[in-house]
Amino acid sequence: MKIDKDFDPAETLQNIQYFGEFGGVNPSITDSSTYTFLKADRMEEVFENEIEGCYLYSRHWNPTNRYLSDALAGIEGAEAGQVMASGMGAITAVILEHCNAGDEIVASRTIYGGTYAFLKNYLPKFNIHIKFVDITDLSQIKNAVTSRTKMVYCEALSNPLLEVADLSGISKITRKNDISLVVDNTFTPMVISPFKFGADVVIHSLTKFINGSSDAVAGAVVGKKDFVDSLMDVNKGSAMLLGATLDGLRAASILKNLRDLHLRMMQHSKNGMYLAQKFEELGLKVIYPGLTSHPQHKLFKSVYNPKYGFGGMVLLDAGSKENAYRAMELMQDKKTGYLAVSLGFYKTLFSAPGTSTSSEISEEEQKKMGLGDGLIRMSVGLDMNIEQTFNKMKAAFKEAGVL
Ligand code: PLP
Repeated sequence: MKIDKDFDPAETLQNIQYFGEFGGVNPSITDSSTYTFLKADRMEEVFENEIEGCYLYSRHWNPTNRYLSDALAGIEGAEAGQVMASGMGAITAVILEHCNAGDEIVASRTIYGGTYAFLKNYLPKFNIHIKFVDITDLSQIKNAVTSRTKMVYCEALSNPLLEVADLSGISKITRKNDISLVVDNTFTPMVISPFKFGADVVIHSLTKFINGSSDAVAGAVVGKKDFVDSLMDVNKGSAMLLGATLDGLRAASILKNLRDLHLRMMQHSKNGMYLAQKFEELGLKVIYPGLTSHPQHKLFKSVYNPKYGFGGMVLLDAGSKENAYRAMELMQDKKTGYLAVSLGFYKTLFSAPGTSTSSEISEEEQKKMGLGDGLIRMSVGLDMNIEQTFNKMKAAFKEAGVL
C-alpha cells in the first residue's frame, strides 16, 4: 500500500467527528455481545459474508471497535483496520494469516522480546521458520528471502535498540519478491507513517503511546481492506478464529485518548531530545535517533514526519547491570518516573531491557546485537519542566557512580 508523501496523520485526527446516538459529542458505546436480526434469512446472509455493515456478534465486529479501528486506519493512511485485545494479539493474527506450514519469515533480530519469542520458539511448532537479520543491512534481507518467504517483519524503530528500518529499501525487496512488509509502528505513531514507504501491514500495541495512560492493553492492525476482511473472515480469518477481540468499553476509552496523540508525541519527542542531548554532553553513551551520533540519524530524517520529532524513546548505557539497577532505583526515589516496563505514559518509565522486555533473547544473541546489560531504556514522559527532571536524573546517576 502506498500513500502520499505529504500525508499528515494529524489532519485525519482533526477531521474525525463521530456523533453519539442522541447527538452526543462522543460516539455511543455499544455494550452488546450479540445483535438482533428481524429476518432469519438475513442472519444467514451475514454468516455467508454476503452483507457488509451488519453487526452479528462482537468478536466479529462491533460499532465501538469500528470507530477506533477506522480512526487508527486514518492516522496511518490505511484503507481499513481492526483493533485487537493486545499488541501480541495483533502480531500473532497477522503472522498466522500470512503463513502456512513450510513458509518462512525474514525478521529483524531486534524486535520486542515477546514477538521474538513467538517467532523463534512458537512458530516452529507449525513448521514455520524464521531467519533473523540485521534490519539495517539490506543485503542480509535480500539474501535471506527465498521462494518460501511470506513476509519481512520489522519495527519502524526497534525495541529496544532504536534501530531504524529503511522501509523504502526493504519494500523494494518485498515488492520484487511479491511478499509482504509488515511493520510494527508501536514506538513511532504519528512520527513515522510506514505506508508512505511501501509497508503492506502496520501493527500497533495500543497499550503504549496511542492509549498513553497505562490503563489498557490493546492492539491494532491496519492495511488494505481485503487483508483486514480476510483476518475477520468467519470461516478462516486468524483474528476472528484466534479470538483476541478488544472489548468495546476499552475501545471507547482508547478512542478518547487518541485525540491528543499528536500533542503528546510532540512533547515526548521534545523531552526525549532534551534528555538525550544532555546525557550525551555528560559523556554517557546515548542512543537516540535525534542525535547525529545515531548510526541511522540521516535515515530517520528521511522517513519521519518532522513536526512530531524523533520520538520519546531514549537508550542510555550505565556501563553495567549493577549501575543500571541502582540508577533506576534512585531515579524512581527522586520521583523522575517509574521503574516499570512499557511506554507512552505521562511519567518517564525506565527498565533494563536485557533482563526484562528482551529477556526472551538469549544472552549470546543479546551480545551479538549490542544489547549490553548496562542499558536503560527510557520512555520519556510529558514533563513541562524537563530541566528539573534532568537535574534529578543526573543526581541519581552521580549517586549510582555512573558519572
Ligand atoms: N510491539 C512492541 C514494539 C512492544 O514494545 C510490545 C510490548 O512491549 C508489543 C508489540 C506487544 O504489545 P502488547 O503488550 O500490547 O501485547
